[in-house]
Amino acid sequence: MPEGIEVEIYRQAADPIVGHQITSVDCPDEWFLKEGATAEHVSDAVVGQRVETTRRIGKLMLVDLSNGVTVGLRFGMTGRLLVDDSGPIDELEYGPKATKDEWVRFRLSFDNKRQLFLHDPRRLGGVILDPDESKLGDDMFSITQERLQERVLVGTVALKARLLDQKRVAGIGNLICDETLWQSGIRPDRAANSLTPTEQSTLHTTLLQTVETLFKQGGSHTGELQSERHRAGHCPTDGTELSREKIGGRTTYYCDVHQK
Ligand SMILES: [Zn+2]
Repeated sequence: MPEGIEVEIYRQAADPIVGHQITSVDCPDEWFLKEGATAEHVSDAVVGQRVETTRRIGKLMLVDLSNGVTVGLRFGMTGRLLVDDSGPIDELEYGPKATKDEWVRFRLSFDNKRQLFLHDPRRLGGVILDPDESKLGDDMFSITQERLQERVLVGTVALKARLLDQKRVAGIGNLICDETLWQSGIRPDRAANSLTPTEQSTLHTTLLQTVETLFKQGGSHTGELQSERHRAGHCPTDGTELSREKIGGRTTYYCDVHQK
């Protein structure tokens, strides 16, 4: 699924719409509009408005308009953002690769002839007017060690479940999580509050580095562990057969030898 890295790539790809006026909106699938919004609400709120800026918190992309309305875009499991008719990311780790008109759930047209589409075969994403941003934790690109300790490294829940909890730190999905823990040498099933001060510091530094590296490499699927994420895959560092378990509700790969 698109993790915070993919959404940041989408956000940057949407640069051509900043400063431009929305001339029309197309919501062919009203089910995709969340929190009670209708196509009419959305049209009234956005048509004629100018895009002031785009932002992102975790996996949520935000488009701020000149009338103070913010349009939130969620990408679910298979959502992609396309500008004009070419996507910034050609391949997602999950979901169909093809682009079809029937999978366009939301479309904004602009005075510079650009169009922004949300393409989502599985319809698990959505459009939200003025989403409640306070429900999200600090973004994974910039969370401080102090906030990681306060919000994530607490309680006896599995560390991986905490890292995936968007209310605590926003943007981490399954691939970024496994890569970060593997790079950190910390087991995903450790209690979140069991890390030593050194491990806490290692985890924080490694998280920021991993996010930055994967972003520069073009996606959350570009980590060193990625090619071994299959049955009988091996640790790229020490050659141990990787353990495969469901942790935090997600299939997790980790090395039983060097992850302590
Ligand atoms: Zn290992």
